[in-house]
Amino acid sequence: MQFKDIVGQEKVKQRLILTTKESRIPHAQLFVGSAGTGKLALAIAYAQYIMCDNKGDDDSCGVCPSCKKLTKLIHPDLHFVYPAKAKAEGSSDDDSDKAEDTLTVWREALISNPYFGENDWYEMIGMENKQGIISTATASDVIRKLNLKSFENDYKVMIIWLPERMNNQASNKLLKMIEEPPAKTVFLLVSENPNLIIKTILSRTQQIMVPPIARESIATALVDRFNLDPGRAQDLSRIANGNFYTALQLMDSNENEYFDLYRRLMRLCYAKDVIGLLDWVDDAAGLGRENQKEFLNYSLGLTRESLMLNAGLGDISYLMGDEADFGQKFSPFIGVENIFSITNEFTQAYESIMQNGNPAIVFTHFAMRMIKLVPNKPLK
Ligand SMILES: [Zn+2]
Repeated sequence: MQFKDIVGQEKVKQRLILTTKESRIPHAQLFVGSAGTGKLALAIAYAQYIMCDNKGDDDSCGVCPSCKKLTKLIHPDLHFVYPAKAKAEGSSDDDSDKAEDTLTVWREALISNPYFGENDWYEMIGMENKQGIISTATASDVIRKLNLKSFENDYKVMIIWLPERMNNQASNKLLKMIEEPPAKTVFLLVSENPNLIIKTILSRTQQIMVPPIARESIATALVDRFNLDPGRAQDLSRIANGNFYTALQLMDSNENEYFDLYRRLMRLCYAKDVIGLLDWVDDAAGLGRENQKEFLNYSLGLTRESLMLNAGLGDISYLMGDEADFGQKFSPFIGVENIFSITNEFTQAYESIMQNGNPAIVFTHFAMRMIKLVPNKPLK
């Protein structure tokens, strides 16, 4: 993970980079911030920067052997500790699964979206509505690993996510090592609730406050990474309130809504169901202008993908899950005969909405043209 992959937080990035440039990396640092601000991602990008063999002025190189391993989170000198399931009472001497049992899930989760929060993590490892712990056995493991010689790099980095979930015994075990770490060992603690960390550990760490992400940065990221309509990106970033994970979830929930609306439209057109189509117009007209634009954009993409499937170009199609199933079934109804007229209708409706056209009128007109363009039997 590189700094450039992280949304916003320029000040924090600059501060971290400076410690490396000036060779004064504090050996225990505590990243503090609320969920979805990217503090875990920042800690990982920082570790990558520290270990990079060819670092630039404002980021790791991304291509050296060290960076390559860090991208997959398999660098032998980067270690993770995070809360895991507590074992049932009365079972062996240890009180939780060792963190290593869930390491694969952890890596995959971080690589696909490092903005998840505590509860999202518990859901991923099948322990909804329960709180995980960092056990004494895990703490012993940390000590063992950090006492080993580093494998490849000067530095060893130990990232402890949610140190507030360590019990007292585990905290005390680690305390000694945080007080007197082996040479070139860096502890990066990442916390949402520093008040719950034992004082002795807290006082040994240098704190880095990670603020909510700036609204502009979230909006820009949504446009750049997901091609979202800029107006909609602004809406989502406002609701997300500095939490990038929330912004992504909001975006996904909309996609599902758009998919349902698109599928209904095409089915009604195919069935030549005018009454049903008028209900559909009511729903589309009630979406709100930014959502309408986004829906029309989304539909345009989905229609093009269906054409590709029809042309036998399924391999380059970006559709997944339900969209892909529907695209497959719908593709025989889309071909050179009607694709230009259909995409033209979506584009025209988009432009009318952009120019503040009355949504009920725009979508009625649109639906009545579409019903003629979607055939009631496959094109060939
Ligand atoms: Zn590198």
